[in-house]
Amino acid sequence: MAHEENADMMMEELELTKKLDQFKHKIMVLSGKGGVGKSTVAANLAISLGLNGFKTGLLDIDFHGPSIPKLLGLEHETIHTDENGINPLVYGTNLKVMSLGMLLKSKDDAVIWRGPMKMGAIKQLIKDVNWGELDYFIIDSPPGTGDEPLSVVQIIKNPTGAVVVTTPQDLSVSDVRRSITFCDKVKLPVLGVIENMSGFICPHCHEKTDIFKSGGGQVMAKDMNVNFLGQIPLEPDIVTASDEGRPYIYYYGKSETAKKIDIIIQNLLTFIGDSKPVPQAEPQPAEPEKLPENIKRYGIPVTDGKLCQHFGHSDKFALIDYDLEQNKIIKTEIKNPPPHEPGILPKWLHEQGVHVIIAGGMGERAKNLFIDAGIEVFIGAAVDTPENLVCAHVKKELIAGENMCDH
Ligand code: ADP
Repeated sequence: MAHEENADMMMEELELTKKLDQFKHKIMVLSGKGGVGKSTVAANLAISLGLNGFKTGLLDIDFHGPSIPKLLGLEHETIHTDENGINPLVYGTNLKVMSLGMLLKSKDDAVIWRGPMKMGAIKQLIKDVNWGELDYFIIDSPPGTGDEPLSVVQIIKNPTGAVVVTTPQDLSVSDVRRSITFCDKVKLPVLGVIENMSGFICPHCHEKTDIFKSGGGQVMAKDMNVNFLGQIPLEPDIVTASDEGRPYIYYYGKSETAKKIDIIIQNLLTFIGDSKPVPQAEPQPAEPEKLPENIKRYGIPVTDGKLCQHFGHSDKFALIDYDLEQNKIIKTEIKNPPPHEPGILPKWLHEQGVHVIIAGGMGERAKNLFIDAGIEVFIGAAVDTPENLVCAHVKKELIAGENMCDH
């Protein structure tokens, strides 16, 4: 019996190693304590790498609160398995996502797990998931310097290194010193420190105010002889975007804060000695129409004045402008979409300045094209007038039923 168990364990280890060998760079995102923005940084880092053309995987194994599904608006997605294992969720073109949260029935399940169960769950999320070949495997690790991050290092075997997230306050800076000492002890290279929530940029005057002492992370990195990757300011749009499941870097890619995140990515690539893949020449869509900030524009496929269940088969689109200040619809336009060709609708709707699509059913590919174009997608709405659907969506009362056409 013991013999069989040993053989099983060896098989498991072999499968794990085989899977990990398919990942070129394995990066653990660590923090000395919770609440410093580790998951936010991990999500935006992974998305940004994907947008830069790298095949990226994002694994969330934060037992204290697996928040990646919420951050990416994937909370209600279902996981499918096939003969090759569990299929990760796909975000945009290059990013595959898997979270401990997707395996849990209740959000409180994971915290009561004992050590061996946690180890088993982490291994399963690596070896049983169809990750495929990846350039970057980003792991949103449990915070702190205890047994949990240690288990992750042991399971990943030879991670490329760790990105350590801190805030400028003294306490978390001293926590982060512990994280760096931890990395030294377990021989995990520190790829760099990111100082998050560093100064507040006023949205009106664009002046930077250092609410917590800014620059602490930089000083600490110098002091401890580790690489400093950059600062991300305290950005109100990060909070709103995360709460709405709209990852910041996708939706605010041109903002000053996004530029700071780009610098961090560039610094990380330089430190690792990697460079961006040559972009594939694809025609860029025309710039979307500029709308005032208080206007949310919805795009809804319609037939006979109501939602058309099969996206792409509709002959008209309702473009509805909702004024978030006045809390009402201020304009409805019915437009004829261009002839139905793969990839045409996402481009056209992006050019129309649409922020949100409400659909009955939609194929995976179309959905990803919208996400790539920075458009939010709500799938599974029931037949109703476009106005009713928009009002229900604004009030967060729109119910997602079955995807009526997921081919
Ligand atoms: P952790 O993973 O370290 O526990 P989270 O990523 O869950 O932390 O972030 C904690 C909270 O801080 C979230 O509400 C998130 O939206 C917010 N947050 C993270 N980074 C920033 C930032 N740069 N500016 C503003 N809010 C942020």
